[in-house]
Amino acid sequence: MINNEQIQALTDILSKFTSVIGKRLPDDVTDKLKELRDKEENYLSKVVYNSMFENLEQAIKLDRPACQDTGVINYFLKAGSNFPYLAQLKDVLVEAVKIATIDSPLRHNAVQIFDEVNTGNNTGERAPFIHWEIVDDSDGIEVEVYMAGGGCSLPGRAITLMPSAGYEGVVKYVFDTMVDWGINACPPLLVGVGIAGSVENAALLSKKAILRPIGTSHPNPKGAEVERVLEKGLNELGLGPQGLSGNFSVMGVHIESAARHPSTISVAINVGCWAHRRGTIRIKGDMSYEIISHKGITL
Ligand code: SF4
Repeated sequence: MINNEQIQALTDILSKFTSVIGKRLPDDVTDKLKELRDKEENYLSKVVYNSMFENLEQAIKLDRPACQDTGVINYFLKAGSNFPYLAQLKDVLVEAVKIATIDSPLRHNAVQIFDEVNTGNNTGERAPFIHWEIVDDSDGIEVEVYMAGGGCSLPGRAITLMPSAGYEGVVKYVFDTMVDWGINACPPLLVGVGIAGSVENAALLSKKAILRPIGTSHPNPKGAEVERVLEKGLNELGLGPQGLSGNFSVMGVHIESAARHPSTISVAINVGCWAHRRGTIRIKGDMSYEIISHKGITL
């Protein structure tokens, strides 16, 4: 039998957590921005970083979003097969977005395809976007919230290369894309690269790559080395904070991969901006919860 009080509690947790993600960056992103601010040498870079940090402080103080662009809200779920409210979870997330949109408040960003109507509440056809993974023998859920802003979604690209292009072809595609589009995405950027046998698999992996905590590496040492080489090379583009020049263009490069077909090598790119709003929460069946991405937050 459905426990309406528990459903209400779950909606409450998820709407409040979604609001928090709009207002406060995760700890790893804040730490990385501080590191880059301290390493930048030119005056303008420091001015820009200082204004970013003042913006973040004011967002918390005034209880307002850290950027005017809420983005399109994405939820990546690891849902336990024994979680008691699996069947209600999608409706709960839609309701949580509607509540968070009013309570935060969050800018309305969901425009219905073909009708070109903004729904006014950040929900619509497949919005919020929900990606499911079912975890066996677990009674909890892990919810990753990501707010995909317009500027940082612009560099998103995918292509399938001939296998003869090799990993040099992958690196060239990442560089060409970042040279053409990186400046639009409010640097310093977290660059996610997916490598697989087809574009849809690579695209999903490139999004998952920017959900990984900054400072983590690809599990294959060769993959980790490509991440380091790309990070070093992209930094040499000298985009700096907000593209106004500096020693660093990126907060990191993360690669996620899947085995490919022998005849194809697909590569996709997704980018997170300096206001990289994502967060992770674990919720148990009894509605106790743990926030993984942000220290010191109570909902
Ligand atoms: S790219 Fe990021 S920081 Fe820039 S406007 Fe969009 S959401 Fe805001």
